[in-house]
Amino acid sequence: DRIISANLMMEDQAVELSLRPRYLAEYIGQNQIKENMKIYIEAAKMRKEALDHVLLYGPPGLGKTTLANIIANELGVNIRTTSGPAIERPGDLAALLTNLQEGDVLFIDEIHRLHRTVEEVLYPAMEDSALDIMIGKGPSARSVRLDLPPFTLIGATTRAGLLSAPLRDRFGIVSRLEFYATEELSFIVSRGADIFGIEIIGDAADEIALRSRGTPRIANRLFRRVRDYAQVRGDGLITTDIAREALQMLQVDNMGLDLIDYKMLQAMITSFRGGPVGLDTIAATIGEESQTIEDVYEPYLLQIGFLQRTPRGRIVTAAAYQHLGLPFPEHQ
Ligand code: ADP
Repeated sequence: DRIISANLMMEDQAVELSLRPRYLAEYIGQNQIKENMKIYIEAAKMRKEALDHVLLYGPPGLGKTTLANIIANELGVNIRTTSGPAIERPGDLAALLTNLQEGDVLFIDEIHRLHRTVEEVLYPAMEDSALDIMIGKGPSARSVRLDLPPFTLIGATTRAGLLSAPLRDRFGIVSRLEFYATEELSFIVSRGADIFGIEIIGDAADEIALRSRGTPRIANRLFRRVRDYAQVRGDGLITTDIAREALQMLQVDNMGLDLIDYKMLQAMITSFRGGPVGLDTIAATIGEESQTIEDVYEPYLLQIGFLQRTPRGRIVTAAAYQHLGLPFPEHQ
């Protein structure tokens, strides 16, 4: 696994639970979303109503699951967590829905991967707090409507574009999470160090933040590796030098690019004159799945302006040539 993957790895799980902020005030960055959410939550509490359904989208590791949990916590309700692929049959979803209490949050991660038949159960549930159940088969079959307690659905997805229109339209609050600024990631690293009781000084937190691809999950993971290094090679104190040495060993450069990013960009430049190159071709070159590139690795490269998307494929930009120390061909 690539150290700069934004996907959840086994090694992340336990630590993420202890680092996960529990209140909006502890949730760093995403200021616009936080401000809006504070108002919506406050209003729902004043009216004693369930919060409107919320769709959170953006690349992995940016804090969608964390925010869903915070919303439930701030509302003072229970949260039930599941994921699109985990709900196999309409009955599974019906069981989840009927177990909710008034105002509860149902969190569905990877909601773009819900089966169509399951998704259809959600429409009346989201719109009318109702469950339509078919009784019997054949000509005598009829549909019976059950009332559900009002609840809040929070859906998370890396691919809002893959959501069907009827599902997307039923979310009253739609928020896109953005990549984090270096100072915000630095703050997240320092906060993590605090929680673990580890001293981090000088520019060490910034050094980690710079390489974290705008993503808290990666920042936390790099921090753990640096901490290990500091313990074994030093006395546990994370200084700027210790952080730099550790990060150098991990082979992540000061823009968060790893060797596979280099391989990909170099292949696009040498074999395809900088593009456009189709996603599948890129995937074959570096031995990654197209889907993984599109969801996990590419969004950051697009964000920092190293890649551009065109209808004919991806193009390496002048900024990327410069970063790699290669001359940008003028004819492009
Ligand atoms: P996603 O659901 O978008 O893949 P997560 O919510 O699981 O991402 O976030 C991954 C980890 O990153 C969390 O466990 C948490 O430790 C950290 N994290 C995410 N967002 C924030 C934030 N805004 N402030 C502090 N830590 C964060």
